[in-house]
Amino acid sequence: VPAQAVLERGAAFDAVAVPRRHAQHKGSFGDVWVIGGAASMAGAAWLAARAALQCGAGRVYVDLLDARSRHADTLHPELMPGATPDAARLGASTVVAGCGGGTDIAARLPSLLAHAARLVLDADALNAIAADPALDRALRARGTSGRPTVMTPHPLEAARLLGCSAADVQRNRFEAAQTLADRWQVVVVLKGSGSVIAAPGELPSINGSGNAALATPGSGDVLAGCLGGLWSRHASTRRDAASGPHADSLQTARQATLAACHLHGATAQALSPQAEALPAARVAEALGDELRRIAAA
Ligand code: AMP
Ligand code: MG
Repeated sequence: VPAQAVLERGAAFDAVAVPRRHAQHKGSFGDVWVIGGAASMAGAAWLAARAALQCGAGRVYVDLLDARSRHADTLHPELMPGATPDAARLGASTVVAGCGGGTDIAARLPSLLAHAARLVLDADALNAIAADPALDRALRARGTSGRPTVMTPHPLEAARLLGCSAADVQRNRFEAAQTLADRWQVVVVLKGSGSVIAAPGELPSINGSGNAALATPGSGDVLAGCLGGLWSRHASTRRDAASGPHADSLQTARQATLAACHLHGATAQALSPQAEALPAARVAEALGDELRRIAAA
């Protein structure tokens, strides 16, 4: 599979990070729900939520799977923990599912797959789909019903989905990403150095930004939240209805995904040009700085 040119600061980024107009309000940028954070993994959900907030989502809700972790993020009082979205809320929201989700996320997936207007599947949400044919079928049904989904596997998660080894995935990164995209009619980010972004009917792209400063725990959770935030504001600004043509909503999803991968990597490069390790919370925090820097340039 030939790849598209390495994405530098491409057109997709400009399409997503459009200037915020004077009269816009938080409702203009959409709701993001982060659903994850099983026992001892609440941090993953908070990292995704912080990233979504920094990327300009209208409102960010955090639905933690572990009841004992349902305290607030005192560093980020903007984030709203505690509630669980019903079908109506899901139908108007961008959902980031699976960050620190453990095995608890599986029970939530049928409702999310059926109702979420836009859905990012990461981490344990991907593992749950790999393990359960009923969820696999539900994701297929979602693809044919026209609701857009982005899956963000690292190589081992991709291997579980494909039923092969991570080494096999790494030997054929384009094919692995494209196979997953075609199977479920979704956008796929196969993460790692040079993340591959694949979508049905598109040549795969390689993200050119980022460095080994991102090889840290929680890094993928920040990417998932960054994507949720950028996708929410982009789709809401475009008034991209969940009921619109699937090709259009997947194209919007792909643009947001390219932009999120670029921003995540560019933020790490700005903070750590020599690729010394970056705690993921630092990256989440700095996404907003990088967005503001780009907007001012
Ligand atoms: P995860 O494995 O789910 O925590 O995701 C790791 C995140 O960091 C993904 O967005 C990867 O693309 C990124 N990442 C990890 N290592 C590197 C690297 N060496 N160069 C560039 N990006 C990386
Ligand atoms: Mg991860």
